[in-house]
Amino acid sequence: MSAFFVEHGEPAFRATQVMKWIYHEGSTDFSQMTNLSKKLRLFLQENCSLEAPEIVAEELAADGTYKWALKMHCGNRVETVFIPEEKRGTLCISSQVGCALACTFCSTAQQGFNRNLTVAEIIGQIYVAQQRLGTTKKITNVVLMGMGEPLLNFNNVVTAINLMLDDLGYGLSKRRVTLSTSGVVPAMYRLGGVCDVSLAVSLHAANDELRNELVPINQKYPLKELLAVCKENVKIAPRRKITFEYVMLDGINDTDLDARMLIKLLKDIPCKINLIPFNPFPNSIYKCSSKTRILKFRDILHNSGLIVTIRRTRGEDIAAACGQLVGKVQDKSRRHLKFAND
Ligand code: SAH
Repeated sequence: MSAFFVEHGEPAFRATQVMKWIYHEGSTDFSQMTNLSKKLRLFLQENCSLEAPEIVAEELAADGTYKWALKMHCGNRVETVFIPEEKRGTLCISSQVGCALACTFCSTAQQGFNRNLTVAEIIGQIYVAQQRLGTTKKITNVVLMGMGEPLLNFNNVVTAINLMLDDLGYGLSKRRVTLSTSGVVPAMYRLGGVCDVSLAVSLHAANDELRNELVPINQKYPLKELLAVCKENVKIAPRRKITFEYVMLDGINDTDLDARMLIKLLKDIPCKINLIPFNPFPNSIYKCSSKTRILKFRDILHNSGLIVTIRRTRGEDIAAACGQLVGKVQDKSRRHLKFAND
């Protein structure tokens, strides 16, 4: 933006002024930017645009969770979720229209993939959510855990995250922005160098055979490679632990043996394990593990010295929980045909 202003004969600090109007004042109208000259305001109105995604549907769950369907440029819709808690407000944002990966327990996956979201569409989700929530409910945390695989939209996601962290943007602390990935190993190596955020890794299985099935990208980047990059990431930010997400699927990955395999696998990585009760969706082939099973699984991990939490399911009555986001995706990958035939 600085380069843009300089190119048009203005000082570079105009970028700072415009950033503050957009991110701090929430303005999408150049004519309101009163510390810019009238001439410049007019120029911006004629030559630039400030657009936020449009909220086309809103649902409010019994527990206060909001889910919005946002219409993006192509007419496709993605979903964004706000989860209020006592001391924080977490916004779960999407990075792609649909998802190109085919994790078998995820509803987004069944919709197929359309395209990457632009930087504006990613950061714009925070913008519209904050506008809609007003001043009483603040977004303190952002998780890239909505639709899509963030690391397969690397450049746009990194730019958007850096805007979230920048004081001229949303000024969020790096501990409060979490990127969740299914394990795109080369991109995980690149990420460490360009963007300092908390990392969550969708593990879901403690051996390659099962993970190949549940998270098929494992066939390309197996556990050995995934854990090697996790160790590298820990070296970069030694005080920050990686979170491993583990969805609890009845009879699939939830036995005592699975827990013991997990302990062995993670023994030299400083990490936290987040057990996610499986959230069902139409035509899903799995069931969530029973509460007793989840607690037993947690205890086995906990007794070995691992830090374990159980993710509290939020917004399930409006299909806003993990893995339930669908939006409206015109699939270009034809993957839905595969699902239909399976
Ligand atoms: N594509 C990224 C971002 C999704 S994050 C990733 O794979 O990490 C959402 C988290 O919820 C991931 O750990 C994902 O595996 C998990 N998830 C997906 N479907 C789920 C479901 N039906 N129930 C519970 N968790 C699910």
